[in-house]
Amino acid sequence: MPARPPLNRSLDGFGTTIFAEMSALALATGAINLGQGFPDTDGPESVREAAVRALRDGRGNQYPPGMGVPELRHAIAEHQRRFYALDLDPDTQVLVTAGATEAIAAAMLALLEPGDEVIAFEPFYDSYAACIAMAGGVRVPLTLRAPDFRPDLDALRAAVTPRTRLLLLNSPHNPTGTVLTPAELSAIAELAVERDLLVVTDEVYEHLVFDGTHIPLASLPGMHDRTVSISSAGKTFSFTGWKVGWATGSPELVAAVRTAKQFLTYVASGPFQYAIAEALALPDTYYTAIRDDLMTKRDILAEGLTASGFQVYRPQGTYFITTDITTFGETDALTFCRALPEKAGVVAVPNSVFYDHPTAGRTQVRFAFCKRQEVLTDAASRLRKAFGA
Ligand code: PMP
Ligand code: GLN
Repeated sequence: MPARPPLNRSLDGFGTTIFAEMSALALATGAINLGQGFPDTDGPESVREAAVRALRDGRGNQYPPGMGVPELRHAIAEHQRRFYALDLDPDTQVLVTAGATEAIAAAMLALLEPGDEVIAFEPFYDSYAACIAMAGGVRVPLTLRAPDFRPDLDALRAAVTPRTRLLLLNSPHNPTGTVLTPAELSAIAELAVERDLLVVTDEVYEHLVFDGTHIPLASLPGMHDRTVSISSAGKTFSFTGWKVGWATGSPELVAAVRTAKQFLTYVASGPFQYAIAEALALPDTYYTAIRDDLMTKRDILAEGLTASGFQVYRPQGTYFITTDITTFGETDALTFCRALPEKAGVVAVPNSVFYDHPTAGRTQVRFAFCKRQEVLTDAASRLRKAFGA
């Protein structure tokens, strides 16, 4: 065994993701998995059939074009027009990626020089820290604080330095469920223009908004040329395993992201790309139905968690509920989550791992509600039994 450790220093400490750890725990214990965010029911049958058809017809079984198949790029451009009145050239302004995860990685690798600062609101999705690190960037976390988890815009302004290269934003926000308001977006856009910053927006929960409206930052004045917008089919269509994502923006920004992306996977998800092209064209009723269904599920789980004694922070969007466990005298979310399957037969995720500031989210625990209603009801009753009065 060579003396030098195999893992390069930028990835030191990243270990195994919390999602892998907690899903393995769910499998090992047979507990209900409200940890990792994936639906327990597949998306529309017509979309699944479209994938089967593509596979059988030999569409996408060999390398698709590097930018993605034209059908999907057109469907993404049409989606941006239909929902946000954004006008994109599908040939130069839309890049298909292996999920939003690859788009985020490629954007960081493409846009950052070593030492560039990236401002992101913590708690943040775990891949942000790893991707910034792999690109040699320096992350500058700004804390969203309970109970409202609103961004502190003065702190944001103060955090920008001459070394700041980009803002990495996520709205609707995983794990807090915060949806940025028009006023917050305007303030962020003004700052980006004033300080000449790039912005990468992670909008994977764009259709899962219960209170408020999703507005892409790219649609605000001055933002078109400085924003890379990222989304994914995983959440909207309940096919997280297909890993079909995309990045959109100006031709220059998309070309930059593509340059990095082509050396990560080059391309992925061939036949699924055709199926997602069909999914994006589903009628409005599909989009409202998935939102309404998840809103009902949010309310079921929120009620169950409240009845069990958790402090519940009601999310405006996404399919996660952040809670606080101080009410039980608990002081450490990771310890709590590791014991939860044994104690209650339920798996959750500690938000503490999504913070750089070690104390900021120490008592926060996240539960996913993208599960069948009977599963949520069962989980709620297990939690009530374990914790309720
Ligand atoms: N961003 C956020 C905020 C997420 O929660 C997730 C995954 N759940 C992703 C990106 C990754 O999306 P994908 O599965 O499309 O790679
Ligand atoms: N985004 C999902 C979540 O937050 C997990 C995705 C993953 O396992 N990497 O639960």
